[in-house]
Amino acid sequence: MSRVIIIGCGGVASVAIHKCCQLDDVFTDLCIASRTVSKCDKIAKELEGKTKTRITTRAIDAGSFDELVALFKDYKPEIVMHLGMPYHNLTIMDACLECGCHYLDTAAYEPEDVLEPEWRKRYEARVKEKGFTSYFDYSYQWEYMDKFKEKGLIALLGCGFDPGVTQAYVAYAKKHEFDTIETLDILDCNGGDHGYPFATNFNPEINLREVSSHGAYIENGKWHEVLPMSIHKKYSFDGVGEKDMYLLHHEELESITKNFPEIKRLKFYMTFGESYLTHMRCLENVGLLSTTPIDYEGQKIVPIQFLKALLPDPSTLGPRTKGKTNIGCIFDGYKDGVRKQFYIYNVCDHEEAYREVGSQAISYTTGVPAMVGAMLVLKGVWTDTGVHTLEELDPDPFIDGLNKYGLPTRTTNKPVMVE
Ligand code: NDP
Repeated sequence: MSRVIIIGCGGVASVAIHKCCQLDDVFTDLCIASRTVSKCDKIAKELEGKTKTRITTRAIDAGSFDELVALFKDYKPEIVMHLGMPYHNLTIMDACLECGCHYLDTAAYEPEDVLEPEWRKRYEARVKEKGFTSYFDYSYQWEYMDKFKEKGLIALLGCGFDPGVTQAYVAYAKKHEFDTIETLDILDCNGGDHGYPFATNFNPEINLREVSSHGAYIENGKWHEVLPMSIHKKYSFDGVGEKDMYLLHHEELESITKNFPEIKRLKFYMTFGESYLTHMRCLENVGLLSTTPIDYEGQKIVPIQFLKALLPDPSTLGPRTKGKTNIGCIFDGYKDGVRKQFYIYNVCDHEEAYREVGSQAISYTTGVPAMVGAMLVLKGVWTDTGVHTLEELDPDPFIDGLNKYGLPTRTTNKPVMVE
């Protein structure tokens, strides 16, 4: 018997809720708590009679420590799965510490208000030191390590696909395939087509903040910063075909390089179509990607939040999206003195995901790992207290769970290397 709270009720949360309810012997009691409670009620109703999980719903402001503590004290969850916005990670972690619950999220903390003076100071130091212009920053959550350890609690950071599964793939490669890893390329390909000229596959605000930041990679232990979308390659993906991909800075680069300093070169690529990039450049040029509030007829408006209101809601893309995703890691390194390559990845079909849980593959590939991570904590398989990203944990039970619950792993020792 286990009691779990899921915070948020968007694309990713919806998949995780469906998957938890498929495992109703593990997830016996589930509370869906989000800003718009009608969305929670709708999913709870859809699942009525299809699961033994007892579902309750609650309205919550995830930015309010007091509301969170009141809910956690009342519901008494063993784990809180935070599948809402990364702006609230720290507040939810504080509430988990206060109430003695484990914590899980799918994206590194970033601030909602980028003018907030303390955050701004640290951000400017990061830009100066490493060139990072990304808003996300793991260091805030890493500072919770001792507090979680002292309370005997676990915080799983970034338990989606990337971040998440990609880091478990690194742990797997090191455990089973390599003595030393020299290079790693993480490749995130979405070959899906939703038919809109422009839409993002997960939260538009977070997606556009990520993609419009400078790219960054590691070579010989040093960070290098490049202009957004300035490094471009073509790659032919299993199950998808040839796509254009672009180097980005992505949060798992920061944790992988911290935990695997042996990796000399570490890069992350994501595929984008020409239409997406043209729209994004245009929106950026007119100022609609800005996170700085402007005054409009006496009202404060954050341009990127206004844009989000105009764009299709990612959770509605499911019925229209066709094609597949292919996300994985290509390694080069040594085993028993012999140089070798290894590619580990998953291919996920948008339409199959929709048939199973009513969501497209981006939400599916994030919601399934979140469910598997929570399951491993609840079953006492992952027991390391403190704050962890997935490359720090035993990858085998996690990858077994992915294989079993919808994200089967593919591997080859003959990858086409990126460079
Ligand atoms: P959505 O925008 O679809 O969902 C966000 C949810 O959070 C919504 O239900 C929203 O409520 C709720 N929410 C927002 N603010 C609050 C608040 N103050 N209090 C309570 N609830 C709130 O996002 P996604 O499902 O696409 O993404 C969820 C998370 O997953 C994001 O952090 C994203 O970055 C991450 N992600 C991670 C991936 C990975 O591979 N690791 C891949 C894709 C996404 P409302 O319904 O009222 O809007």
